[in-house]
Amino acid sequence: MVRLAGLFSRPQEGQAEASAQEEAPIRDEVQIRDQAPPPPPEADAAAKARVIAFANQKGGVAKTTSTLNLAVALSEEGYRVLVVDMDPQGNLTMSQGLNPDQITRSMFDVLVHRLPIDQVIQETEVDLAVSSIDLAGAELALSSMIGRERALEKALAPVKERYDFVLVDTPPSLGLLTINALVAAEGVIVPVQCEYLSLRGLVQLENTLSMIRENINPDVEIQGILPTMFDGRTLHSREAIEILQENFGDLVFKTRIKKTVRYAEAPVKGSSVLKYDPSGSAAEAYRELAKEVLNGAKARKHA
Ligand code: ADP
Ligand code: MG
Repeated sequence: MVRLAGLFSRPQEGQAEASAQEEAPIRDEVQIRDQAPPPPPEADAAAKARVIAFANQKGGVAKTTSTLNLAVALSEEGYRVLVVDMDPQGNLTMSQGLNPDQITRSMFDVLVHRLPIDQVIQETEVDLAVSSIDLAGAELALSSMIGRERALEKALAPVKERYDFVLVDTPPSLGLLTINALVAAEGVIVPVQCEYLSLRGLVQLENTLSMIRENINPDVEIQGILPTMFDGRTLHSREAIEILQENFGDLVFKTRIKKTVRYAEAPVKGSSVLKYDPSGSAAEAYRELAKEVLNGAKARKHA
């Protein structure tokens, strides 16, 4: 078995004065994951959205699928959710039936020209800040700008009071677009495909996160590792989960996203799987994940 001690340590670890206070809520979070989710907050003007980035520099691990379906599951519970498509390939935008090639104003204009994000938010199953192919030029355009890592954080600031959650989908790289997402985020969910488990890739992601914590955003933490495309009939899938649990312990969500063609069918219809097949087990899996996420958020809030 692969064992990588200390991998994905929480930001507080090793910081003497913070660690004693911060350990308790982490235990609470684990204990209450199985409980019913808390009800959505009453309209609370002071409350600000929790920003969660979905990151893994490997493509095809279900980042986009998880961003959309968790967002829709949270909105079913009554939470106000914004999703942000930070991938120039625009898969999230497409999966809600929009054509990124026909989009004139997108996250590119928000990040590079400081267009208010409101102007690129479209009302789909949840509010969606859209991508277009232009976004491929954003890394280059941003690279010479002062504050280039904080462009998304700044863009989100004026709308954070209107949402309970902002979920950010990222491209399959650790470039400036993903860094912007990690700088804007408080939590990071890392989808990991059970078939081709790449722990080395996860170490790289953790190194990037460590640098971001040290230099820009000390608060960002791994919220959870999400096993996707799980096939319980294969030893390979079960072993992948074991390896994840050995290395990351309670950071691995209890929800396993099983392998099913439903997830590929839904975006063709421009739908989340929760809308496409509301009573199916594929939809149910993301509702379970929403419960875990909500209970974790509650634990932190009450810490
Ligand atoms: P990423 O954003 O990490 O590149 P996607 O969410 O686009 O990954 O998923 C990659 C492909 O796998 C898509 O075609 C998607 O429909 C499909 N897919 C996602 N989740 C699952 C799953 N649990 N089982 C089977 N196919 C899946
Ligand atoms: Mg994607």
